[in-house]
Amino acid sequence: MAQTNTGTKIPNERGLGIYLISDFSGVELKDVALADALILDYSDPIGCERFIRQCRGSFIGTLYLMPVFILAIERQIEPVIQSMCDGVISSTQVEAIVSKIEKIKQRQVSLAPIDSSTPEVRILTKTMRYMFTREAKLTPVVDHRSHIGYTYPIISEHYNSGNMQDMFQMLENASENDYFRPRFVDKVHLCSNCYSAHLNFRETCPKCQSADLVTENLIHHFLCAYIGPEHDFISGDYLVCPKCNRMLRHIGVDYDKPSIIYNCQNCTHTFQEPVMDGFCFVCQKHNPIDSLIDISVNAFELTPIGEESSQSGLSKDQKEDVELQGFISYTTYAIFLKYETERARTSPKPGAAGSLVVKIPQKVKESMGSSYSRMMAEIADFVKNTTLSTDILSFANNNTFLIISPESDRSRLEALLSQIHDTVSKLLNSSLPGVGITITYKVEVVDGLANHMDVINNLMAPGRE
Ligand SMILES: [Zn+2]
Ligand SMILES: [Zn+2]
Ligand SMILES: [Zn+2]
Repeated sequence: MAQTNTGTKIPNERGLGIYLISDFSGVELKDVALADALILDYSDPIGCERFIRQCRGSFIGTLYLMPVFILAIERQIEPVIQSMCDGVISSTQVEAIVSKIEKIKQRQVSLAPIDSSTPEVRILTKTMRYMFTREAKLTPVVDHRSHIGYTYPIISEHYNSGNMQDMFQMLENASENDYFRPRFVDKVHLCSNCYSAHLNFRETCPKCQSADLVTENLIHHFLCAYIGPEHDFISGDYLVCPKCNRMLRHIGVDYDKPSIIYNCQNCTHTFQEPVMDGFCFVCQKHNPIDSLIDISVNAFELTPIGEESSQSGLSKDQKEDVELQGFISYTTYAIFLKYETERARTSPKPGAAGSLVVKIPQKVKESMGSSYSRMMAEIADFVKNTTLSTDILSFANNNTFLIISPESDRSRLEALLSQIHDTVSKLLNSSLPGVGITITYKVEVVDGLANHMDVINNLMAPGRE
């Protein structure tokens, strides 16, 4: 076994670069970027935790997607740490984990390079890629060290107590955009000021808010109908009614205890309905119960759209996309194209897919303001009316029309797009002369030979003018 600054290389029959790291002080994250997998020795739990958090917290794909195993011999692993690794092993006999490593590596191959515009998209993208390569759900883990009482693998590395609200918003957006399917796990009640789950619930005095209360039974004497606090009845070892002076003998027969009353030790107020208060251990706010934030903590599964997007990238600026009636989203288009590719693989009749890109210089686009959307909607109407009802239409990047013609000849789609191209060119050049508009189109055969993502990449590449 060779000792390097990446740890000890573990020999294996597939020749993978699997490194065992026991001394975490000597290894830097960047040194391990080229490894195929890491095994972290849990005999130093603190070093191990710090290292795996750095790894999963990175934005570099080869690091956060790195297959990481933990070597633990007769030692209980913290569930949070376990949720961040790909498995726990009890010896360096690595043959059992080799197939898992290869599977993760294999799924990594289909991840296209993407640039993410916002921090939220960056975090979501890496989370989805982690889920995709592991074919795993995102499951929250109970964690008393977490601000909200639960930790999500990967995601929680990027949110601290100051921005929990953003994390929940991000998860909600991801579900709304159909990347994630939520599965209920638990409900948490959080401080309305700081989103902490570390609350102390207690009854307080409605007059002075003190929690220094003592409770006492109320006693109801059936015979004379008197109701009063228990201490009024106590007479030595016996209970005697202060109103009628009779001795009380059997609960349920001659008296009962219908409820309790509260006595405030601070202001001597006596009452039956205390006020529930959730005192926050983090920001020290007193939260009336109905002001607490209640949030469902969910596990998340990748939807087919999520799987697709984790490979090809999330459509940027989701909310700014021009929405067009009768046009599906880019991610849905990718799914339809996948189905058409699968169909064509076993059928003698291929299909066709095409694109039409309207390129207008950014400055012109900005000066047009909302009339740009109106113009695209007009072109979209034209595209819709010219194509067949069986054609599947999508609009992406605010300037690209995508078409699938299932079980249809390439030449038909080509003729159609050529016709649309000519008409739209005429229209735009007469309404916006001399601003440098280019319109291009492209057609690809869908015969099942090429992967659907390759087809899409070809369609997005510059086409004919
Ligand atoms: Zn009585
Ligand atoms: Zn009081
Ligand atoms: Zn708080």
